[in-house]
Amino acid sequence: MHYDFHIHSCLSPCAENEMTPNNICNMAKIKGLDVIAVTDHNSTRQLAACAQAAEQTGIALLSGMELQSQEEMHILGLFRRLEDALSMQPWIDAHMPVIPNRPEFFGEQLLLNASDEATGQEDRLLLVSLQAGLEEIAACIHAHHGAAVPAHIAERSYGLLGALGTVPVDLLYDALEIQDPAMIPAIRQQNPQIPEDTLWLCDSDAHRLVDIHEADYEISEAACRRLWERVP
Ligand SMILES: [Zn+2]
Ligand SMILES: [Zn+2]
Repeated sequence: MHYDFHIHSCLSPCAENEMTPNNICNMAKIKGLDVIAVTDHNSTRQLAACAQAAEQTGIALLSGMELQSQEEMHILGLFRRLEDALSMQPWIDAHMPVIPNRPEFFGEQLLLNASDEATGQEDRLLLVSLQAGLEEIAACIHAHHGAAVPAHIAERSYGLLGALGTVPVDLLYDALEIQDPAMIPAIRQQNPQIPEDTLWLCDSDAHRLVDIHEADYEISEAACRRLWERVP
């Protein structure tokens, strides 16, 4: 299956307004992808519309989110069932500092329905650190039957290796995300604590339609199932 498990919708302030549920699903289909995940910053509120759009388009969708920990690290939650992802929202709300968004500065946070019609805006700024550490976030994702995947680990901003300098031994994760797979051998060599059988995901972190991956990266169904091995 060709995949891209890290795509932002127009709910994320940093994403373009063209990232509507239907545009994302149609573009992914045009690019030859079989399965995608929509992963907005600290929110699940675009996922129901995305799930409907995916069904209309005929593309498989994981319900996702990109959470920011108090260490300023990004970690993806990937869920097979929409309702499991949505059940995380009260916990996110309870751990998110209430800072009003300034659309003119950070960008709009648009909420759309499955026909791409605007239904509202998220008023709280989503680009913030939750009041929870990495390990607590991963545990919460697992408790809601999701897979926890540290995002873009080599990036200097919000990436475990790039910013924190290490992949913590105590962190329970189900895969590691890297934007350039050519870096994996060197990362492995420098980080022997990363288990041999670690699943690596290569996603786009698209904020514009053009950046959604082409059909360049494949995952087998068996490998995909391993993402949720740890899940109760
Ligand atoms: Zn990120
Ligand atoms: Zn992202």
